[in-house]
Amino acid sequence: MKKFIGAHVSAAGGVDLVPQRAHEIGANAFALFTKNQRQWVAKPLAQETIERFKSECEKYNYRPEQILPHDSYLINLGAPEAEKLEKSRNAFIDEMERCHQLGLTLLNFHPGSHLKKISEDECLALISESINIAHQRVPDVIAVIENTAGQGSNLGWKFEHLAQIIEGVEDKSRVGVCIDTCHTFAAGYDLSTQAACAQTFSEFDRIVGMHYLRAMHLNDSKIELGGRVDRHHSLGQGHIGWECFQYIMTHSEFDSIPLILETIEPSIWSDEIQQLRRFALID
Ligand SMILES: [Zn+2]
Ligand SMILES: [Zn+2]
Repeated sequence: MKKFIGAHVSAAGGVDLVPQRAHEIGANAFALFTKNQRQWVAKPLAQETIERFKSECEKYNYRPEQILPHDSYLINLGAPEAEKLEKSRNAFIDEMERCHQLGLTLLNFHPGSHLKKISEDECLALISESINIAHQRVPDVIAVIENTAGQGSNLGWKFEHLAQIIEGVEDKSRVGVCIDTCHTFAAGYDLSTQAACAQTFSEFDRIVGMHYLRAMHLNDSKIELGGRVDRHHSLGQGHIGWECFQYIMTHSEFDSIPLILETIEPSIWSDEIQQLRRFALID
């Protein structure tokens, strides 16, 4: 199977429970939080949890390239204030370390916000530096920058922002991008037809480079094109519509990377996955 399709599954009760939950919805990829996403500090992962996570992944056939951990929402790697920046960097290093302990190679994160206190350029440079620091502290894990809807002062909604962050990263082999379809559309890049998708992804290729694409979030959008607000919807029910997801399923640029649903109704994730599989003809 070339398409790795899954969802962001709950890690309630422990990360070691996630592979089975993903398997139960028919996913051959999954995303997870390795700690509570709304807290700064978490207990270190217990050795037995780590071992059980690894054996469950083996049991259900999930390899690291099919798994996309997501960091805490509190972290701002471009924080204008020194104290908050340091706290964010330490928390990010801890997230990366947890991924490494679990044998994982990707870490998906939101780039950061300038909070109207520093310029965009300064904020983007801080984000690159934060990635460089984490690279020095933890081996192997790839920092996967998620594009944003451009809500508030969040950067990363323009493809140019992503390119500028990557430009400042020393080890280019350990940086990549996760494109969220809802965020892309809300940021003003049309995805509502196959032709619009071709146009948007060729722009991404020109500005960032398709080879940096390491993951996708597949979400429809409650917000219209360019609305700059992040509101996910179930596939086919928002302003993006099914054509976009059909495009992704039938183009090889999206092979062999995690394609993760963060849609709003977990009870229909298995149906959404099946529909995507039908598009990809990999039933
Ligand atoms: Zn995210
Ligand atoms: Zn979102």
